[in-house]
Amino acid sequence: MNSKPEILLLAPLPQFLLGPLWEACICHSYFMTEHKETLLAEAGPRIRGIVMAGGSQAPVELLKKLPALEIISVFGVGYDGVPVEYCRQRGIHVTNTPDVLTDDVADIAVGLILMTSRRLAEAERYVRAQQWPRAPFPLAHSLRGKTAGILGLGRIGKAIAERLVPHGLKIAYHGRHAQSDVSYHYCDGLKSLAEESDFLVVACPGGAGTHHLVDAEILRALGPHGTVINIARGSVVDEQALVTALNSGTIRSAGLDVFEHEPQIPAELLNDERVVLLPHIGSATQETREAMAALCVGNVNAHFSGAPLLTPV
Ligand code: NAP
Repeated sequence: MNSKPEILLLAPLPQFLLGPLWEACICHSYFMTEHKETLLAEAGPRIRGIVMAGGSQAPVELLKKLPALEIISVFGVGYDGVPVEYCRQRGIHVTNTPDVLTDDVADIAVGLILMTSRRLAEAERYVRAQQWPRAPFPLAHSLRGKTAGILGLGRIGKAIAERLVPHGLKIAYHGRHAQSDVSYHYCDGLKSLAEESDFLVVACPGGAGTHHLVDAEILRALGPHGTVINIARGSVVDEQALVTALNSGTIRSAGLDVFEHEPQIPAELLNDERVVLLPHIGSATQETREAMAALCVGNVNAHFSGAPLLTPV
């Protein structure tokens, strides 16, 4: 009899994660099979673990079909796809991969701020289209003296703030709590943060608690010189309200790494020169993804060997 634990994979994963997972476990590629119900009927009762990506979903209906489930190891820091309260009630452990990706995601936020303020992607397209010999590129906007309002001053939010201060930006933030270990200005409402901000930087978790926090009213408060930067989750920003705000000049621009229905992106955003679009690459470097993989499989191995979890949620 094979004594390896059996686990379900809910998302495509890189080889440097799959290799060690296959060594330790029998892995079932749930995301890939066309015969999901057959797989669940046959292997469901033996499944003791799930490995999934930050952006993937582990709905309660699926977890109910896995009576022996003990651990969900998320390959990512965001675990909004995991019904945490349900897992807590059933005693299912949930782990994620915090900290190791913080710097890379913060770098992408700064990149989006520079790209939107200095119109870098537009300028690059301008050169490639051989427009430069005809006329100089229009003036953009500088960062110095502007205010970045960070929605969610956590690990990533703080790393973004630390990078923006040397660029001459003032920092304000909103979260559910004021933080005593930072000197940045705390706004107790998101609307007042938006009113104060030139860049509204979304860095809070996704999920029901933050769904559409950035809506039409917040975009109006941000105003015609304002830019939305989202490196968190598409669900936090009301994408239709964002499209409307861009079209009507309610805000100036947007820099987005995440989308409500990614990889689907509304045509209005694809066709808008003022919007910078990235394919959810916040943590997508070789170094960081390898460090995330080590934590992800490390949590699985710790659990099945009875050792303390490395990074429980
Ligand atoms: P974190 O350390 O847990 O920080 C989250 C922050 O959000 C906290 O400061 C928290 O402050 C605030 N927050 C939570 N709920 C809130 C609410 N309802 N309203 C306002 N603020 C709220 O998390 P992190 O490591 O910085 O990661 C943040 C998020 O980034 C992740 O959850 C993930 O979705 C996203 N992410 C994206 C990428 C990418 O590739 N683009 C990569 C990694 C992570 P309070 O407790 O005071 O509210």
